[in-house]
Amino acid sequence: MAEFTLDLNDDQKQVRDWLHGFAADVIRPAASEWDEREETPWPVIQEAAKVGIYSLDFYAQQFFDPTGLGIPMAMEELFWGDAGIALSIVGTGLAAVGVLANGTEEQIGTWIPQMYGDANDVKVAAFCSSEPDAGSDVASMRTRAVYDEAKDEWVLNGTKTWATNGGIAGVHVVVAVVDPDLGSKGHASFIVPPDTPGLSQGQKFKKHGIRASHTAEVVLEDVRVPGHCLLGGKDKLDERLARARERAKAGGERVKNAAMATFEASRPAVGAMAVGTARAAYEVALDYAKTRSQFGRPIIDNQGIAFQLADMRTRIDAARMLVWRASWMATTGKPFTAAEGSMSKLYASETARDVTAQAIQILGGNGFTREYPVERMHRDAAIYTIFEGTSEIQRLVIARTLSGMPIR
Ligand SMILES: Cc1cc2nc3c(=O)[nH]c(=O)nc-3n(C[C@H](O)[C@H](O)[C@H](O)COP(=O)(O)OP(=O)(O)OC[C@H]3O[C@@H](n4cnc5c(N)ncnc54)[C@H](O)[C@@H]3O)c2cc1C
Repeated sequence: MAEFTLDLNDDQKQVRDWLHGFAADVIRPAASEWDEREETPWPVIQEAAKVGIYSLDFYAQQFFDPTGLGIPMAMEELFWGDAGIALSIVGTGLAAVGVLANGTEEQIGTWIPQMYGDANDVKVAAFCSSEPDAGSDVASMRTRAVYDEAKDEWVLNGTKTWATNGGIAGVHVVVAVVDPDLGSKGHASFIVPPDTPGLSQGQKFKKHGIRASHTAEVVLEDVRVPGHCLLGGKDKLDERLARARERAKAGGERVKNAAMATFEASRPAVGAMAVGTARAAYEVALDYAKTRSQFGRPIIDNQGIAFQLADMRTRIDAARMLVWRASWMATTGKPFTAAEGSMSKLYASETARDVTAQAIQILGGNGFTREYPVERMHRDAAIYTIFEGTSEIQRLVIARTLSGMPIR
């Protein structure tokens, strides 16, 4: 039997140190510029592609780390560098996971490499699920996909919103309704290949934080995609819909539980991003508290400051442990009987929000300016309690899982 250990192995340490070097030398120095420009940092993504960080191979290697710690470790280091730039680097992964989770081997082999392009011609991809009236309430989705049997094509119509890389992506993965009577069980995912007529970018959002990451509406007007762009294929979809109709008659619980298990496995990655941002702000605050003097002594000599730093670090380490536990559970196939994935995302995201606010306070007036990075880190941290399920939705999931009750 394997011994219990929280030590990273030599390979993991090597990858972590390599990523940390890239985050410190390339990402962090560029953070302020791209935050102000509010544009996708293409040169940084290209640099990441050149060294192999922006590539399918790199994510696959981390994803298949048997301990489960490859992805959270990578996320923490990249987001320690800067959240907006890191999201521009890992955003394509959201769409790639959509294909990995639902696609056939042929679809995975065809589309995922196109999502990344190569170091000389870098591409990004977008995952489009949210809509103006369907955020937390995914079942209210309206984007419709209708099958044109004569041409073996699907026709997509609707408006997606909040899509990371929406409109600037080559490949878009779009979730749409194929059977409106089945709620979220009547959804399917489609590849929209590069330059498909009818897909356009709507409003590009000006945001509070993670401003180097592009977020926009995606408008679909009679977008026609070949039958082979339905992820998983038509036969599998027809079987799944038939099963869902049967289960809808019998109560529908099992399908819902399968979808929940997927979310539980993906949420720790967002928790790890939050840990990275929180750790970055904590380090700046600790350093500042040791060097800034008032009343003739470093401000950390005051318990009021020192205890805050002690609490910040304790919460960050606790958040990382929850993230690692959930990632290890997902990789080793342990059942999420207490919604441990949601727990990790909830705790880490609120830790990032609170720790970055404390960091501003410790830096005083300097913390409130753009001369120091904690102001940007606090703006960035606000996203973690919102995307991939808000904190309220995480609490709902945890409470429902613990109680077995349909809490509203
Ligand atoms: C920067 C950014 C990037 C994003 N990237 C993507 C992306 O790439 N692809 C994608 O598909 N989506 C993306 N999203 C969308 C994101 O996942 C949604 O914003 C999120 O799920 C919340 O949906 P909403 O904004 O419609 O809020 P709403 O669902 O309208 O929620 C509003 C408020 O009501 C609360 N609330 C809602 N329902 C309940 C309830 N039952 N009980 C208690 N409180 C409740 C929420 O917690 C929240 O506080 C992104 C969003 C942002 C801001």
